[in-house]
Amino acid sequence: MGESTWDYDAIVIGAGAAGLAATHVLHDAGRSVICLEAADRIGGRSYTDTSIFGVPFDLGGHWLHYADVNSFIPIGQDLGFDLYAEPGHIHLAGSLATDGVLDRVAGVSDELHRQGDADNDMSMAEAFEPKDEVERTALLLKALSAGRDLDEISMHDWHTGALEDNNWFCRQGFGAIVTANAAGLPVKTNTPVTAVRRKADGVDVETADGTLRAGHVVVTVSVGVLASEGITFDPPLDASKQNALSLITMGVYNHAAMLFDVTALPMAPDTWVSYPIEEISGSMARGGGILCNVSGSGLCSFEHVGNFARELEDAGEEAAIDFALTRMVDVFGADIRKGFRKGHATRWGSNRFTQGAYSGTRPGGAGLRAALRSPHAEAVHFAGEAMNEGETVCISGAHKEGLRAANEVIDLLS
Ligand SMILES: Cc1cc2nc3c(=O)[nH]c(=O)nc-3n(C[C@H](O)[C@H](O)[C@H](O)COP(=O)(O)OP(=O)(O)OC[C@H]3O[C@@H](n4cnc5c(N)ncnc54)[C@H](O)[C@@H]3O)c2cc1C
Repeated sequence: MGESTWDYDAIVIGAGAAGLAATHVLHDAGRSVICLEAADRIGGRSYTDTSIFGVPFDLGGHWLHYADVNSFIPIGQDLGFDLYAEPGHIHLAGSLATDGVLDRVAGVSDELHRQGDADNDMSMAEAFEPKDEVERTALLLKALSAGRDLDEISMHDWHTGALEDNNWFCRQGFGAIVTANAAGLPVKTNTPVTAVRRKADGVDVETADGTLRAGHVVVTVSVGVLASEGITFDPPLDASKQNALSLITMGVYNHAAMLFDVTALPMAPDTWVSYPIEEISGSMARGGGILCNVSGSGLCSFEHVGNFARELEDAGEEAAIDFALTRMVDVFGADIRKGFRKGHATRWGSNRFTQGAYSGTRPGGAGLRAALRSPHAEAVHFAGEAMNEGETVCISGAHKEGLRAANEVIDLLS
């Protein structure tokens, strides 16, 4: 019984930022560990592609949020990546935003924080009624950061994890840091896990290639995968986890990316371009914003969210790119089309290995991340972006959760 029947001290499920961090720690601690990944590549929602456009394109996370504490700034610098602070150019209603406009955008955040501090939780749609375009833009930014429509955002949860306006970028792509940092780790790709079964002497992890046994398992799949029961747990997840999974759910956020000739783009690298969005109707932002000329590469990415993102995803890639290109024309004029070279739209809503883009908390669900994080049946541990309370929804937060879960396992193994 015990260690002699284990194939590994620990099995990590999922090779995104959380799973790779957990694998790293266990590997460095001299523990036998394997990371099983369903997809044909590592990185999960932090992945930089260069094959589509010939320049770095982050399919998932791109902003290094919370720069003061973001784990990947020192990691990236040590690995030799070119990192820099977001320049903060904001183009709004046809021109660069003045300090007065930026103050008004910040004022909306202050008001929302006041609401988030109130005794009763409510949705962001209930908390604030936008009066004009500046306030709609401010709310759109919140919807983007929460990955969902305003009626789906818990003010209490948003208040505790709201993104500070303190971001950095990596010229080679954020995902490139995550995958480079995982070089040499024991990961098996194309290996979806179907079941996790607690046994008297360890945990069985079932895959199409057979069953592996470990002393401990670290599960890092998204809350979308957990809620859809893509993995069966025996014993089943308890009521507090199920309740948390019903209130901390996946939202949809997509990039409709467009490559232009750099000379066709009339703005500085990394300019955020807002335009008059149609409306925020029924709490849904029917539009998005565009990050233009990413790191000076000519890539522009139309960022959109929530049910509108689902609609565009259902309409197909061509429709999403056409919508994005038409917004570029609205803002910069028809000539911009002459510099357009190629488009690509992500489809995170229909990605079966994530079941959405990132998690958010519905009204009434604040404070439940601890329930997601707590171990199950003493040997099944959880990590991932949804569990982090401070750096919510972020790659760096996912990484820290992976470190936390791996140390939990090491303590129990010792
Ligand atoms: C479009 C988009 C934009 C974003 N923008 C930002 C941003 O600007 N900045 C930021 O910090 N964050 C951003 N995020 C969020 C960030 O990417 C995620 O929070 C983070 O990457 C999640 O890491 P994770 O390890 O928790 O999960 P994941 O990256 O999802 O890793 C889990 C892994 O588990 C695998 N898996 C699933 N099912 C199974 C199974 N049955 N068996 C084995 N493996 C399985 C998946 O394939 C995946 O690789 C964005 C995300 C998206 C999608």
